[in-house]
Amino acid sequence: MADCIFCKIVKGDIPSYKVYEDDRVLALLDIHPLGKGHTLVIPKTHARLLQDLDADDASAFFEATYYLLDAVQDAVGAPATTIAVNNGKEAGQEVPHAHLHLVPRFEGDAAGPIHALFPPASRPTMPATELEALAATIRSAFEDD
Ligand code: 5GP
Ligand code: ZN
Repeated sequence: MADCIFCKIVKGDIPSYKVYEDDRVLALLDIHPLGKGHTLVIPKTHARLLQDLDADDASAFFEATYYLLDAVQDAVGAPATTIAVNNGKEAGQEVPHAHLHLVPRFEGDAAGPIHALFPPASRPTMPATELEALAATIRSAFEDD
């Protein structure tokens, strides 16, 4: 995608602080870090959403994330990481090229869990029957016709 900022970074047209690279994946430091060591994992092929990746790119993406966790945490001395994807505009995605945020976390830092994104008043009440019906609907996506 010609006007995609992350595609430009992948091509080397825009400089970045790379921390990992293989045939399918690039990881780099976020230019406006939410915390020390904030790292972005991006597929080299342009795709807006994670589910738009092909299965090989998705596997490489999550495998790189797996290995990056210790590397990034150790580099900044963090005991924990928030792993987040703003997967789509309505979820807060600003750069329309799929990416995963690794934000190292520290005891007593100002940020909370991802549950803090959703005020209690915004949370749906889901009785057991609704949970079961919803689970069945999702399961059906994996069943043969
Ligand atoms: P989103 O809101 O789309 O999930 O997050 C996009 C992230 O990309 C933001 O955290 C932002 O700071 C980061 N970002 C935007 N432009 C650049 C850039 O040119 N270089 C780097 N390294 N990060 C960027
Ligand atoms: Zn792109």
